[in-house]
Amino acid sequence: MEKIRCQGCGISIQTTSPKKLGYTPETALQKDTTLCQRCFRLKHYNEVQPVSIRDEDFLNLVSRIGETSGLVVHIVDIFDVSGSLIKSLPRITGNNPIILVGNKMDLLPKSTNQRKLIKWLRASAKEMGIIVKDVFLISSAKGHGIAELTEAIEHHRDGKDVYIVGTTNVGKSTFINRLINRSTGTNDVITTSYFPGTTLGFIEIPLDDTAVLIDTPGIVNKQQIAHYVSKHDLKIITPNKEIKPRIYQLNSGQTLFFGGLARLDYVKGEKQSFVCYFANGLPIHRTKMDNADTLYVEHKGELLSPPDQETMEKLPALTETTYRVQGDKTDIVFPGLGWVSVAGQKTTVTAHSPKGVSVSIRKSLI
Ligand code: GDP
Repeated sequence: MEKIRCQGCGISIQTTSPKKLGYTPETALQKDTTLCQRCFRLKHYNEVQPVSIRDEDFLNLVSRIGETSGLVVHIVDIFDVSGSLIKSLPRITGNNPIILVGNKMDLLPKSTNQRKLIKWLRASAKEMGIIVKDVFLISSAKGHGIAELTEAIEHHRDGKDVYIVGTTNVGKSTFINRLINRSTGTNDVITTSYFPGTTLGFIEIPLDDTAVLIDTPGIVNKQQIAHYVSKHDLKIITPNKEIKPRIYQLNSGQTLFFGGLARLDYVKGEKQSFVCYFANGLPIHRTKMDNADTLYVEHKGELLSPPDQETMEKLPALTETTYRVQGDKTDIVFPGLGWVSVAGQKTTVTAHSPKGVSVSIRKSLI
């Protein structure tokens, strides 16, 4: 088949993988369209669709950003910050300023300390070498914080283009659709090829007469637990409404299982409460540390579920990290799942998580 390119984003048209760049249904090809489905939907329905891309391809695609001048808006999922920060970002964005945006705020308990969350986001980014100009917290789904963010984008972009980048599933499409609705109402959004003749797969939304907002494909980060679980399990672990903390009074020698996907052992310390912030539908199971290994082997996928069968086939083995906590109230963070808050008396815990999805600790947000 002769290579056909999308007139909107420049990508090669393909008819086999709906979730990948350049997809167009066979039937649409027969009519005389030269837009991929993503650009078609943007043009006719004012709506962007999520598409994903592998790490290496992402680097190739977006390395162009470093050669141009513009503002980079990096969206992360506040439930999976380590899984949604893009390590390679500074390498590809050159000297362009970066705004960091934590999305899905609506899922956090109202008592969350936003100032601490912002501080933690900034520090987590810095640890990966990403220096950010500003940090914002939003809910794309509910529309919270969008007005402030839009104002900041307008300020920082200084008349230039805006690149929206993020890993898959952070809510990038939901966010852009909100912006489109704000700025255009139901008007037709035109897509034009930004770098004509290249295969970037970027789509553009005009901001004013000279500058555009550019939706880049969502990068797939192997650290995201979302890539190791089935669709069914992803629904269970992803919160869909405000999280209700679940509190366990534990003695040392006790263990909490989060489904069968992660585990926390209370190794040493006085009796105290462990406050768990996970999707309300994710079962938490308490047991004795001494029985935990056997329980896991015998009941993973049953009493301890998720994982379901499909997840078990791809989920890496659990690995453990031990933390000694003292002083401030501390959160033990399981990326993509949630976190457990402990009071900060002398406490030793061992956290188990699937290999590659690293647990971390931070000052408590609540
Ligand atoms: P993309 O892959 O980054 O483009 O992400 P999508 O926009 O497709 O969103 C991924 C998932 O997160 C979808 O199930 C959305 O409904 C959900 N989502 C997006 N934004 C929010 C938000 O602000 N709050 C909540 N609770 N869910 C969100």
